[in-house]
Amino acid sequence: MLSMIRQLEQQYPEAIRKYTWLKWLFKAYSLTDDCISRELADRASRGDRLPACADGCHECCLRNEIILSKLELQGLSWYLSEVLTGDARETLRKHLVDFVPDQLADVVKPCPFLVSGRCGVYPMRPLTCRIFYVLGDRCPSGEDAAMARSADFMAFHKSMYVNGATAVLQGMGYGTARECRKLAESGTLVKVVRPLQAMPLGVLVATMDALAKD
Ligand code: SF4
Ligand code: SF4
Repeated sequence: MLSMIRQLEQQYPEAIRKYTWLKWLFKAYSLTDDCISRELADRASRGDRLPACADGCHECCLRNEIILSKLELQGLSWYLSEVLTGDARETLRKHLVDFVPDQLADVVKPCPFLVSGRCGVYPMRPLTCRIFYVLGDRCPSGEDAAMARSADFMAFHKSMYVNGATAVLQGMGYGTARECRKLAESGTLVKVVRPLQAMPLGVLVATMDALAKD
């Protein structure tokens, strides 16, 4: 069965022609998802601990800082403006308007893309969300697993990070595949990501409004 990201890629060939960067984002997310699927299958076959993460579990979306690249923000803008429709679109628009960035407050707010306990942008969620898995017990209410039990984070082979990061850097114009792989291996992606709260989220709302269909 095709993954959600590959289904989306197949559904919107005209968007890939129009937005040349979009193919790199699809590639980054597909490669990352493939790596995670392999890791989960390997864990299951070895009898290792599996992630507690499951559909509808969302404590991590309430209190973790989401970091992402501009390319990923563009992808979210496209998904919100040109893919989502109806109530799903309106709800996320409202969440974004209410998500007033407050860079002075040392408080991480619930993710504005969370809707009724589920990710409203799931196929296009950022890399940081795609690789976030906690082994063993589900995070109880109020737990910040990143602080409380970092030893329970599922570790991945470096290639997972490097493959996705290479494609993101290519989409951001950092050079050829070989050049971007070298940059990814040296950790350059970390230098080009920002917290969601520091991103120009008003632009997302403006784009949604400009592309709103009657
Ligand atoms: S990280 Fe914790 S809260 Fe998030 S999906 Fe996994 S178990 Fe649930
Ligand atoms: S983008 Fe989706 S998965 Fe990531 S924190 Fe927000 S709601 Fe959770």
